[in-house]
Amino acid sequence: MVAWAPWGVNGPHAAGRRMAHLLWIAPPRLLGSILTRTRSGELPLNTTDRLATTSSSLRDLILRKLTYTLGKPPSEARDRDWFMATALAVRDHVVERFLVQMHQTRGKEGKHVYYLSLEFLIGRLLRENVGNLGLAEELRTALAELGVTIDQARLAEPDAALGNGGLGRLAACFLESMSSLAIPAFGYGIRYDHGLFRQILRDGWQQEFPEDWLSFGNPWEFARPEIRHRIGFGGEVTAEALPDGDERLRWNPGEWVDAVAYDTPVVGWRGKHVNVLRLWRARAPDPLRLDAFNRGDHHGALAEQVRAESISKVLYPSDDSPAGQELRLRQEYFFTSAALQDLLRRQVRQAGSVNTLAERVSIQLNDTHPAIAVAELMRLLVDEHAVAWAEAWAITRGAVSYTNHTLLPEALESWPVPLMERLLPRHMQIIYRINAEHLDAVRAAHPDDDRLLASVSLIGEEHGRRVRMGNLAFVGSHHVNGVSALHTDLMRQTVFRDFNTLFPGRIVNKTNGISFRRWLMQCNPGLTGLLVEALGPKVLDAPDILVQLRDLAGDAAFQGRFAAVKRANKEALATMLREQAGVRVDPAALFDVQIKRIHEYKRQLLNVLHTVALYEAMRAQPMRDWTPVVKVFAGKAAPGYHRAKLIIKLACDVARVVNRDPSVRGLLKVAFLPNYNVSAAEVIVPAADLSEQISTAGMEASGTGNMKLALNGALTIGTLDGATVEMAEHIGAEQMFLFGLSADEVTERRASGWRGTQAEATSDTLAEVLAAIGGGVFSPDDHGRYGDLVASLRAEDWFMVAADFDAYCAAQQRAATLYRDQPAWRRTAVLNTAGMGWFSSDRSIADYAREIWGVPVAT
Ligand SMILES: *Cc1c(COP(=O)(O)O)cnc(C)c1O
Repeated sequence: MVAWAPWGVNGPHAAGRRMAHLLWIAPPRLLGSILTRTRSGELPLNTTDRLATTSSSLRDLILRKLTYTLGKPPSEARDRDWFMATALAVRDHVVERFLVQMHQTRGKEGKHVYYLSLEFLIGRLLRENVGNLGLAEELRTALAELGVTIDQARLAEPDAALGNGGLGRLAACFLESMSSLAIPAFGYGIRYDHGLFRQILRDGWQQEFPEDWLSFGNPWEFARPEIRHRIGFGGEVTAEALPDGDERLRWNPGEWVDAVAYDTPVVGWRGKHVNVLRLWRARAPDPLRLDAFNRGDHHGALAEQVRAESISKVLYPSDDSPAGQELRLRQEYFFTSAALQDLLRRQVRQAGSVNTLAERVSIQLNDTHPAIAVAELMRLLVDEHAVAWAEAWAITRGAVSYTNHTLLPEALESWPVPLMERLLPRHMQIIYRINAEHLDAVRAAHPDDDRLLASVSLIGEEHGRRVRMGNLAFVGSHHVNGVSALHTDLMRQTVFRDFNTLFPGRIVNKTNGISFRRWLMQCNPGLTGLLVEALGPKVLDAPDILVQLRDLAGDAAFQGRFAAVKRANKEALATMLREQAGVRVDPAALFDVQIKRIHEYKRQLLNVLHTVALYEAMRAQPMRDWTPVVKVFAGKAAPGYHRAKLIIKLACDVARVVNRDPSVRGLLKVAFLPNYNVSAAEVIVPAADLSEQISTAGMEASGTGNMKLALNGALTIGTLDGATVEMAEHIGAEQMFLFGLSADEVTERRASGWRGTQAEATSDTLAEVLAAIGGGVFSPDDHGRYGDLVASLRAEDWFMVAADFDAYCAAQQRAATLYRDQPAWRRTAVLNTAGMGWFSSDRSIADYAREIWGVPVAT
């Protein structure tokens, strides 16, 4: 039995290329019997018709796709064509499993989970699908016979970057885990024409260019033009008298947009189960205004269409701060309404009515972006399905649950009441009624507590009247979860403190996780092979047995093999750094990586300050025996976030000076790798020695980059923040470089009127570093460039960069010292991997299923 076939790499294959020509001449086999059987309504695929999983049948299928779907002979095929043909062939295998599964479960579908997320940061899918289907080895052989390497095809796939960062990547890992655990589920989101912008660094400044993932077609998706829902905006609400004397409120939207479905099958590990990610595209109900066109008004003829279709045009490129614009609200309502209409239609088809909805479905809101679901589900039930208000409210609260991702009050979404009244007038009425009943209940339990009423109201009065989407989601949900133990505790103490008193037990914790298929098995085949050898193939299905690695941590032979895998991965990253960042590095050096969105709270700036400190020290004491270090940065800044862009510029300015300075003798290299995305992460993560998780304590809700890196044997230098706290519990704090203020201490410092100058007064190193940066040492072309940045560190120092500087440098020193003792470093690296089994997104999803969704999980 081949327990695990790694994603191999093969050189180009000239003989194979000739064979491809011969095969191309031969007519392909027809699948007539499959078609007949499908039409007759029986099981569409019997065993003799099933697609064979041998390399030769895969080869024939790829060739057939290239020929008849892409219309190209192999001699003309480019890498992109090979990718498309391969993906289409692989998709056939996914579809086959899907059809069989549909046939087997028809009529006995269990409770369904609907995961609503404005973002799905998927990355490439070829390797994931092939790996999960167990076809890696066959595909490698098939492509080799066609004269193509698997990487040639794989690297031609564009990243599906329909997300900004952690939140969207979490949604992608969760979808894959739901399939792997065979939980019937749909992901719902938006099929953006343009995902997250492409980042180019020009002279160190970030520039944004549109991303174009669909320009050569998307082989994974199925357009479903027949699955279309009408989404209304604007207009007015009228009262309609009913025959029994009652009245019913009716929304007559002033504008309609159609949501059209595009389905991407998501296949789970070992091909067990297939779910669907259904993304909605906005289309105008009419393709153009013919009357205007015929009058010669070509622009006006298309205006409505442009307006309608702008909804799914582009992903908002900011994370951790609300976008705020009307188009964003339109996006949120658009996909939420489409999802709810879709699932209600399925409910009625399967159960005959909406009454049992809460028993049959669980709707998970990924952050507040789909929080309008609470009002929209009420509208659909009450207005469209004639359910009584109280019953509709019970159904809604029984079906919906909400994941909170942020504690910052300023980052919580809220929409101005006038905008809501104009865009969603019926929803505004519904929200007022929900709020009135909610506040009545609160008043009854806590009379004369105006502060409490103001705090838990769905309408805030702070900056004009606004609908608080977090409060709406909370009130409309049966469970509200945080994404790490610390974040959930802080939620109970801060943003939802009053709600937690009113509804004890509603807030629960579900610590995030990552897909071990993507973030270990596919991105690090070398380590995976070693783990299978050491622990047996069971490790691929039961990652908790990773703890058994602890017995091998001190084994010199095992350490050597572990280190050899890391070394090979570092060589691959070194190549990428040379090609894409123009920096040459020594793979023997300590690879210190910080890869994530650029944000003040994530404190890339602290890392840059340490880089400068190290640089100055190396120049001042050239005789010391320095540990060679490569600092790798990657990440995008929100386009309007000037401070974040300035931090990128500073990292690049420091890199330019350091990398060119002969007195450093190459012992310190700094690289900013442009255009960070999932595919870049898949190269960097397996190659990292040191993982930077240095956020201001209390500000990172969970983090998932921390998990990817530790799983792949990087040691963490970090604060006790987010899920890093739980990583320390599982790995052992002594195997990490933890430092800095705790979340409580940060709160105390801020309250005490802390100033960065206090840190500067007691740290010569910090004083020197700030003087150098502020004085223009790294910006000779513009001495004042970093004046404000440095001033903010000397003043309020909100993110505690100055406050944590000395502790951070000491932790860096510990890391550099340990790295010189390679056996000790390797032992620690093994212990890090050994402690990470719990952080599989399978564990997260099993917890959601049991404790929030009420869905059985087989294990
Ligand atoms: C995992 C991941 C993130 C999240 O990283 P954090 O360090 O948790 O912020 C962001 N972007 C990409 C591309 C990722 O793969």
